[in-house]
Amino acid sequence: MQNTINTILSEYSTIQFLEDTMYFWSPKNREIHYKKSASTEADVWKLLHEIGHALLNHERFRIDIELIHMEIAAWSKAKQIAKKYDIEILDNHIQDCLDTYRDWLYRRSICPNCMSTGLQDTASVYRCINCLNTWRVSASRTCRTYRKNQRAPVAGAL
Ligand SMILES: [Zn+2]
Ligand SMILES: [Zn+2]
Repeated sequence: MQNTINTILSEYSTIQFLEDTMYFWSPKNREIHYKKSASTEADVWKLLHEIGHALLNHERFRIDIELIHMEIAAWSKAKQIAKKYDIEILDNHIQDCLDTYRDWLYRRSICPNCMSTGLQDTASVYRCINCLNTWRVSASRTCRTYRKNQRAPVAGAL
């Protein structure tokens, strides 16, 4: 696994890679944070996913739904790159990751007043079409919580 990761890192030398305890793409600094001591196949998938964000030049998103679209695009790019290395990224893994984002989006969009699903007006305001209530949400950020290991969200990371 480590060999594969080293090969990938050297082939994408135009991207800045930083050792960290988790995986994410930082559009602001244009760098990928990755786990140095990666050992599982899923680690390689996550690395390829972040490379997907980098190659697609993903920036910070304005409204939440854009994030889901970027996540899907980054996974499809990751699958494409994976073929080069004879790696197959399991769809289950991708769906689990996307579900995490969908759950996060769903929680933000629920009206605190009547529990209907609201619409996002701006980056930080949702509006209920049922009771016309509006509520603020934290500035758009990527939720990094994977179901199995709950982690705090990192602002501005994808
Ligand atoms: Zn409402
Ligand atoms: Zn992502």
